[in-house]
Amino acid sequence: MNSPTHKAFLDDSYLTACECKIVERLPGGVVLDVTNFYATSGGQPGDTGLLEFQDGSKLTITGTVYDSDRKRIIHHFETDTVLPPAGETVVAHLDWERRYALMKMHTACHLLSVVCPYPITGANVSLDDSRVDFQIDDPTFTKVATTDAVMELVNADHPIFTQWISEAQLDDDPSIIRSKNVKPPRGLGDIRLVCIGENSCVDSQPCGGTHVSQTNEIGEIHIGKIEKKGRENRRFRIRFGVLEER
Ligand SMILES: [Zn+2]
Repeated sequence: MNSPTHKAFLDDSYLTACECKIVERLPGGVVLDVTNFYATSGGQPGDTGLLEFQDGSKLTITGTVYDSDRKRIIHHFETDTVLPPAGETVVAHLDWERRYALMKMHTACHLLSVVCPYPITGANVSLDDSRVDFQIDDPTFTKVATTDAVMELVNADHPIFTQWISEAQLDDDPSIIRSKNVKPPRGLGDIRLVCIGENSCVDSQPCGGTHVSQTNEIGEIHIGKIEKKGRENRRFRIRFGVLEER
């Protein structure tokens, strides 16, 4: 039975470096006992960075994914890399600039789901153009109004924090989850809630991703496009920077 990788990024999304041990070599990559590298899931791409060895040498980590068991996290190297042996203690360094931008974008998607409280049918976080698809039969949403509503939440500088609840707690008080549009997966143990605002006054929804800790860290963002996808679906594209056309 393989031990699951301890996900240090769930407790601290600002952990740029993490001491860990190589526990296994798999084709193209290694499994660490603990990692600060987020693995691709939920529409957020896996982290990249460096693995530093005790002799000072470094290997580039090109991507981070879950193993098929969804419990172990595999850190991939460039092709033709000679894999380091298991047992060695190393330091995993995030490409922090990239990850921090993804954290901002991911958090912006949460704020968009507050402004557009409709069922989410898809989402993808990326560095320059993230998208959230909503089941929304309402043609009145505009780029300007949606951008202004999201930026109001950014500028209000709400705190963002996480809270773990059990399925039993959720059954006792379903209002713990404010977002009606995001349902937690059941049967997998405790649920991680990402909460925005004092006492979750803005939002709380289940999520295993990485977020900034204050909304104003997101900075200037805007809705670059709202596309109609079928009769009932709208795709919102979030981009960094100010909305130029008003
Ligand atoms: Zn999230």
